[in-house]
Amino acid sequence: MKILTVNSGSSSLKFKVFSMCTDSLLVSGIVECIGQCDIGSFLIYKNLPKNLSKKETINATTHSQALEYVLKLFEDPEYGCLEHIDDLIAVGHRVVHGKDVYNSSILITKESLEILKSFIELAPLHQPANITGIEACMKILPDKPMVAVFDTAFHQTMPAEAFMYGVPYEYYTDYGIRRYGFHGTSHKYVAQRAAEILKKSFNDLNLITLHLGNGASITAIKNGKVIDTSMGFTPLEGIMMGTRSGDLDPAIVPFLMHKLNCDWETMDKLLNKKSGLLGLSGISNDMRDLVEKKNAGNDRAKIAYDVFIYKIVKYVGAYYAAINAKLDAIIFTAGIGENSIDVRRDICNRLKYFGVKLDNERNNVISNTPRLITANDSFIDVYVIPTDEELLMARDTFEIYKKINS
Ligand code: ADP
Repeated sequence: MKILTVNSGSSSLKFKVFSMCTDSLLVSGIVECIGQCDIGSFLIYKNLPKNLSKKETINATTHSQALEYVLKLFEDPEYGCLEHIDDLIAVGHRVVHGKDVYNSSILITKESLEILKSFIELAPLHQPANITGIEACMKILPDKPMVAVFDTAFHQTMPAEAFMYGVPYEYYTDYGIRRYGFHGTSHKYVAQRAAEILKKSFNDLNLITLHLGNGASITAIKNGKVIDTSMGFTPLEGIMMGTRSGDLDPAIVPFLMHKLNCDWETMDKLLNKKSGLLGLSGISNDMRDLVEKKNAGNDRAKIAYDVFIYKIVKYVGAYYAAINAKLDAIIFTAGIGENSIDVRRDICNRLKYFGVKLDNERNNVISNTPRLITANDSFIDVYVIPTDEELLMARDTFEIYKKINS
């Protein structure tokens, strides 16, 4: 009962193998620089139960070649995790966009693959790479069920009041201009973990989940359903991120295009790759660097940090109002949320009048297990819950595998 998960980027292929009998991770790795002939591709591979890892340059000019190499390694007597490749029962693929067509993971068929291709214009950088990974797997493992797990699916319960933009209605019907939301797998995973920890039925949960990584988004969950999320038509909207601007006055876009005499592609790159923490600080998109520089008295690092915190606090306030019911918890997750003691402290302290009472000792703990960071008498509980998107992908894939084999 082993499941392979694949997260395919334009020149990379991340993979994990899970044993579904024990819900445990057996192997994880990545092939980078696929197709970059001059330098070769680079494999990082870890077998967790055997505590073995390897790094090597391999010859993979396509995703198929990278995958063939990795699958052979799975059968390797020393490094492998399978006796035979047939021990894999199914493959789960991360797919960035399922539009409003898919509100859960699906079995990939020839027909659904064509539908996924029709969403490419909504995610032109990521969707084609995800499809390349699916097609490579279908070619090499033609008999294995393939499942698509969407970044957008969990958010599709949002009501129209949250997903519509104030633009002419025909742009929604003609071009699909609406909020879709992203990071859904992560928000869903931590919400499910929160239900277990709080011993509450998922359908009764009211949560605000803060996925704070290089990309970052906040989600409001009421009675187990997403009612709003900060990323929108694309992952550019919402709170400020590592290199993405997040929300801004839309009129800034044509104004700057005029000033800089640039086209929309340059503008798109400026807002996605050169803005956010990096653009404001002029130093780095990495929160560790910014905290260090801010604490050393660097003004630009301080501005970037303060804006980051303030925007998050504003969203939490707005989502508390949107939920309009007793919150069960606020959850921090992803690279910054799981690791930055400063960020968590500064956000929680600005939510004091909502009833968040931080316990500094609990917040200062460095650990990769879920934990409460507020005081026992805090009106709202705040937890750190490490995310595990691939485990959720594996579980969804296993559920679909069981359905088609029942
Ligand atoms: P993504 O998956 O979006 O690339 P991650 O969830 O891996 O991002 O988060 C990456 C970010 O986490 C880094 O940019 C870094 O700022 C932050 N991070 C990681 N470790 C720490 C830490 N110990 N303290 C503060 N920030 C950290």
